[in-house]
Formats: sequence, C-alpha cells, structure tokens
Amino acid sequence: MQNILTKEINTTNLPDSNGRFGEFGGSYIPPQLQTVMDEVTKEYENIVQDPVFLEELSSLQRHYVGRPSPVYHAKRLSEAVGGAQIYLKREDLNHTGAHKINHCIGEVLLAKKMGKKKVIAETGAGQHGVALATAAALLGLECDIYMGEVDIKKEAPNVSRMKILGAQVIEVTRGTKTLKDAVDAAFEAYLEDPDTQIYCIGSVVGPHPFPMMVRDFQSVVGIEAKAQIQELAGRLPEAVVACVGGGSNAMGIFSAFLEDSEVTLYGVEPAGKGLDTPDHAATITKGSVGILHGFKSFLLQDESGEALPVYSIASGLDYPGVGPQHSYLKTIGRVNYDSATDHEAVEAFYGLSRMEGIIPALESSHAVAHAIKLAKTMKKDEIILVNLSGRGDKDIDYVLEHYPLVEYEPTGKGNGFEEFLSHIKKQ
Ligand SMILES: *Cc1c(COP(=O)(O)O)cnc(C)c1O
Repeated sequence: MQNILTKEINTTNLPDSNGRFGEFGGSYIPPQLQTVMDEVTKEYENIVQDPVFLEELSSLQRHYVGRPSPVYHAKRLSEAVGGAQIYLKREDLNHTGAHKINHCIGEVLLAKKMGKKKVIAETGAGQHGVALATAAALLGLECDIYMGEVDIKKEAPNVSRMKILGAQVIEVTRGTKTLKDAVDAAFEAYLEDPDTQIYCIGSVVGPHPFPMMVRDFQSVVGIEAKAQIQELAGRLPEAVVACVGGGSNAMGIFSAFLEDSEVTLYGVEPAGKGLDTPDHAATITKGSVGILHGFKSFLLQDESGEALPVYSIASGLDYPGVGPQHSYLKTIGRVNYDSATDHEAVEAFYGLSRMEGIIPALESSHAVAHAIKLAKTMKKDEIILVNLSGRGDKDIDYVLEHYPLVEYEPTGKGNGFEEFLSHIKKQ
C-alpha cells in the first residue's frame, strides 16, 4: 500500500509546530476553540501513522472515488495553441466531479475516528457542501451545511443534492448572505458544540491544523501525477499549473514538485472583470497581509481589515483569503501567482470542450487559460501539467446564457482555433 500521507512528501517540513508557514498561518481563535483544534491536531497526527486508517483511506480513494485519476495528453489542444504540450490531471473524473472529495473523505474519516456524530461546514456555490454530504452519507455521519441565502437561491441543484444526500442546509441571512458569512456562522455553531461535531473546512484555509491536513489529503493528486507524467513523458514537466481559490487543488498538485527546482509552478487567481476593477478575487496578486477566519495570510481587505466583497465567474474561486502556504510560497518565490479574467476562462472552457471533448469547471478553466498563454511562449517539446480540478456540468447553462457563440463563416485561414475563440460573445 502506498502511504499517501507520509510526512516525507512535505519536503519543506512546514508548517512548524505552531502551524506556521513562515509568518503565515497559525491560529487566531478563541481559547475554547483552541482546545478543540489542539485535539484535532493530536488526533490527526495519530491517524497519519495508523496503517488501518491509511488503508481505509486508500481503499476508498480507489474503489469509491475512482483513483488514480488519469493524466491525459491534450494533443489537439496543444497543437491548436501551437507551443508546449499540455497534459491534464483529470480530477474532473472523480466521483462528485472534482478534487474536493479527496479531503472530504479524509476529514469525515477523522471525525469518525474521533467519535463525532456530525460534520459541519460552510459552502459557497455548494461544491464543498455536496462533497462533504457525500462523504458523510458514505460513512454514516450527520451533516449540517451553512450556506448564504443568496447562494441558496443561486445554486438550487446543489441544495437539492445536499438534501437528497441527507444533509441539513442551514440558511445564513446575515451580512452579504454569501460564503464569508456562511464561514462565520459555521464557526459559531462549532463553538456552541465542539464535542459531538467537527468542522470540515473546504480548502487549505482556517486555523492550524486545517491548512496542513487538507493539503495532506489532497497531496495524493501530486503524488499520482508526478509518477504518471514520468511514465508518459519519461521526465518531469517544465511547468505545473493550477487554479487558486482557497488553494487546495493547487497545494495538492504542487506538494509533489516543491523540491524539484527545475519545475516552475504557477497558481492562477481569478481576475474577474479585470484587476483594475473591484470585481475580482485575486488575493495574492492584489491583497495585503491580514487575519481572517483564524489564520494569517494575504487578504483582500479594506483599511480597517474587513474582508472585501469578491467576484469572479467561478464561484468556487471567490474567497477573500488564500491558504497560508500559498502566501509563504509567494514570498519565498517558489510559486508564480498569475491571474486569468472571466473572458479568458470562458475561452479556455470552450477551447478545451471543442478540442478535446472535455468540459472543464469554470474554476479549472482559469488554469487551462493560463496554460494556453504559457504554452505559446514555450517550445513544442516542453511540457505543462495542468490540474483539471473539476468538470463543468454545473456551468453549462451559465456559459451559454452569458457567453453565447456568435455565428460566423470560417475564413479557412490558420487552424481555426483563434477564429473560433474570437466568436465568443464579449460581455
Ligand atoms: C472549489 C473548487 C476550486 C477552488 O478551491 P481550491 O481550494 O482553490 O482548490 C477549484 N476547482 C473546483 C472544480 C472547485 O470545485
């Protein structure tokens, strides 16, 4: 059995025992919650040494999630773009359609080991809620999902999925009635009863040990991908690209390559309607250091330290903070953080669909968009590995309504790819 959680893979030896990645991370929470977090940390450190736990986790990854997910050489897309070879790590093929199930199963298994009856969490677009409700159903725990009133109205199919899976969806009506308020409400509920329930956060964010734990549960993505690309291409890629919301799918794939200095890593944030407008969620690119939801990291905040409203076409990327390890990797210069706009993401969404028959999630489309830009600057025998974090079924109606294709007569000039992309309606 492959021990996917060995600490060896966390080659930076971070976080330290205080949960810090350099100056970032840590734990800024009330003392009562700190006691609970200390317990979670202790239990987590036990289970990652426990062969029974690791066997159960790896068995579920294989037989339930469908791991390993393939790495696929997107030849037609690479050819059309003209440049480096683009390979995709197909997390979109996981049960429930994205990478989130990887850490949800880990978190719910941990909850069960700790004797908890219930798991609770926040959700924005409902993706984390659905993944957690799935893992809770699988392992027989109760599940409460806190969700803003605005998001409940917007994301009806995911609300239905959670209910069918047996979760309670609890409406949050304070503040902007969206993700940040849902996190606040879920934390408060956790404080009220930290004994029978456990908070399963949706990304590599929150107080220690969550950024470490979620990263470790996602690191299976990088471990698999590294072996797969070496088998397929005979060597490591020049570049690895992933989209960054809270940063869990990116940490999952990056973690295996951190020590390989010849591999350039790119995290792609949502530039929304443009970095010079207020409508983006490019936390590292445009933010400053602060504290939110119990941890220190780059944040999009106003002068008083209040988190700013964020926006992008991909609701899974709309968080005003970012995982503390990303802030650290940014400051030491190990990862390059760039961004892609809504329109670039939509071009990548259509481009991958037409060239490969793969409809990517709008979140993942940000990574594909950056890979397309990057490929053009690289040689034909160079390799870009993209983490395709999820599938786009949830996004199809939105894209067709807001970014329809304009009918046109192909000119027959060039390979037709750029011409096709230029006929997506501009907002
Ligand atoms: C939630 C989500 C993301 C963003 O979360 P990270 O923690 O940044 O990975 C990215 N892609 C998909 C498909 C998602 O559902």
